[in-house]
Amino acid sequence: MDGQVVMDCLDAVHEAIETHRDEIAGLDQAIGDGDHVFNLLRGLASLNALRDEIVADDAAGALNRAARKLLSTIGGSSGPLLSSLLAGMAEALGERTLPLSATDWAHALAGGITQMQRRGKTGTGSKTMMDVLIPVSERFVAMASQGRARDAILDELPRVAEQGMLATRDMIAMKGRASFLGERAIGHIDPGARSCQIMIEAACRQLAKAPKGARHHEEVSQ
Ligand code: ADP
Ligand code: MG
Repeated sequence: MDGQVVMDCLDAVHEAIETHRDEIAGLDQAIGDGDHVFNLLRGLASLNALRDEIVADDAAGALNRAARKLLSTIGGSSGPLLSSLLAGMAEALGERTLPLSATDWAHALAGGITQMQRRGKTGTGSKTMMDVLIPVSERFVAMASQGRARDAILDELPRVAEQGMLATRDMIAMKGRASFLGERAIGHIDPGARSCQIMIEAACRQLAKAPKGARHHEEVSQ
């Protein structure tokens, strides 16, 4: 994976969030302050100004550029969290040698999540985006270490994301604005969990259709 593939994934994420804008806005109006999807869209749109630099960079450099831009443009709780995710991924990738393997990417995602947790101070079960990202990351690490095929991984991770997103419906929120609602948040899907699930799905779909030359995982036996 290089800067072009990072940018392709960010574009796919942007398009998918735009498609689901009204739905995510509705979820956040129910248990938050309604700004989550608009924060995200502002941040993702701001990346257009950096397109040439991101595309020309290597994967870690591209992720770092996007992380810095998103920190200053998304805002809310999710801006610093998502920026930490990309910066943590970049840091983890920086220690790896080329060409990057599925295992390298799995550890990058895990490194990004560690950084998010340093900021957000929560794991699963708090009705947040972590309920999607942590199980996805854990399954990615497990499948990569088992040597599972790239296509199988890209097929499975969106399913894990969906389960995590749906699980937030029955939770009481322990973090963020929704935590002030207590039991009244039960029955509502967390907007950040839904947006992250949409992002995972879009990135996996994009990577699954990436031309072979742009593939970042080592070829593994089927
Ligand atoms: P704000 O609450 O500041 O308006 P956003 O609207 O940008 O923030 O994002 C809200 C989302 O942020 C929530 O739906 C939730 O998924 C996520 N979130 C809030 N606090 C945390 C936290 N401490 N750790 C992880 N995610 C969090
Ligand atoms: Mg908000």
